[in-house]
Amino acid sequence: MISVEEALEKLLSNVDVLAKKEVAVLDTLGQVLAEDIYSEIDVPPLDNSAMDGYAVQSSDTRGAGSHSPRLLRVIDTVAAGSISESEVTAGTAVRIMTGAPVPKGADTVVRFEDTDEVNRREISGGQPITEIGILCEVGAGLNIRRAGEDIGRGTRILAEGTVIRPAEVGVLASLGRSQVTVISRPVVAILSTGDELVEVGQPLPAGKIYNSNSYSVAALVRRYGGVPNMLGIALDSEDSLVAALRRGLDADMLITSGGVSVGDYDVVKDVLAKEGEIGFWTVRMKPGKPIAFGTIRGSDRQGTPRRIPHLGLPGNPVSSMVTFEVFARPAIFKMMGRNAWTKPTVEAVLEDRIVNTDGRRIFTRAVVEKREGRYFARLTGPQGSGILTSMSQADGLAIVPEDRVEAKPGDTVRVMMLDWNEEVI
Ligand code: AMP
Ligand code: MG
Repeated sequence: MISVEEALEKLLSNVDVLAKKEVAVLDTLGQVLAEDIYSEIDVPPLDNSAMDGYAVQSSDTRGAGSHSPRLLRVIDTVAAGSISESEVTAGTAVRIMTGAPVPKGADTVVRFEDTDEVNRREISGGQPITEIGILCEVGAGLNIRRAGEDIGRGTRILAEGTVIRPAEVGVLASLGRSQVTVISRPVVAILSTGDELVEVGQPLPAGKIYNSNSYSVAALVRRYGGVPNMLGIALDSEDSLVAALRRGLDADMLITSGGVSVGDYDVVKDVLAKEGEIGFWTVRMKPGKPIAFGTIRGSDRQGTPRRIPHLGLPGNPVSSMVTFEVFARPAIFKMMGRNAWTKPTVEAVLEDRIVNTDGRRIFTRAVVEKREGRYFARLTGPQGSGILTSMSQADGLAIVPEDRVEAKPGDTVRVMMLDWNEEVI
């Protein structure tokens, strides 16, 4: 048996960062920037108003108060998107909307609330206001957003290697970028094996079960940024498996499920041994002991021969999801150019007993709650590796290390969070 870390290291040593690609900015969410981003413009491009109000000279507000308004002549109105031709001089004001460029001559903006605009509007009956009373003293520069205060022209605003989140999408758009160069998303071919499997949407004959692994695995691929290519179901026969594999040979990675244990019908290993190289690992973890890893002979989209990494997950639905989190997720992240793939973990007080009979790292499905500042973890119920609802109920995987024979109620365990659901926070 090899450790989880050894298995992961071997797998990752066979996985490379994918090529760069120019992609529409909105499609880059979760991808890694493959270029430094420099700004060609100032953001904002001009000094502009942070408030709806009046652009004035601050010296004109001196001595102003609610009972001693300073009266200024309104010479223009400027909305966001327009530029006022007028110049503010002593004794004048330009009515200005949020985001509108500050007119020449003005050094401050007085908010509507600090003027007598409301009263004048009532009196004017919809006619433009020609005079405004300033009701307080305002210092220079107030309510003005300076040109380039967010992003200065010529600065490097995002570095190559940055993982793109919604904020980065926004920043890129604020620079006017419609396309950016990122590391490609891996296309992951997904194949389930087993004579007992039936595709969803079909009637279920006696003795059969629905193929759930292809779907949970594809959803995980998508969640972590890859593009699933569903190869469907292969029967436990060499012909069927070879035919299905042929449809996935232009992928960046192949993930199969099932057929890697020692059952009579486990042809996956024989076929994959012929189609490439395959290693079988018994990993010191539970669920998920038998895992296959190898490469299969394929070709890229131009038809050039190459080897595609293949990960053979166990067929049991929980095992395939847990081994995906532990092995496939880091592989996908590495291909995408990410260099960190540790899942967030919390220390939690265990509320159930977990027994570790054979020195493996146990990943139990746990419900995590926070009470009075501490995390608590209880098991979701039966932990059989066929009980997929245990994954659905879980917030995280409570981990009992290899060298610990038992974790008792009250003990502290590490929980690898699958999701941060709002109730856990
Ligand atoms: P195997 O690893 O092929 O021996 O499968 C182990 C268990 O997982 C068996 O009970 C299978 O029926 C089940 N299984 C295998 N593949 C799938 C799948 N794609 N969806 C749901 N269950 C599966
Ligand atoms: Mg099988």
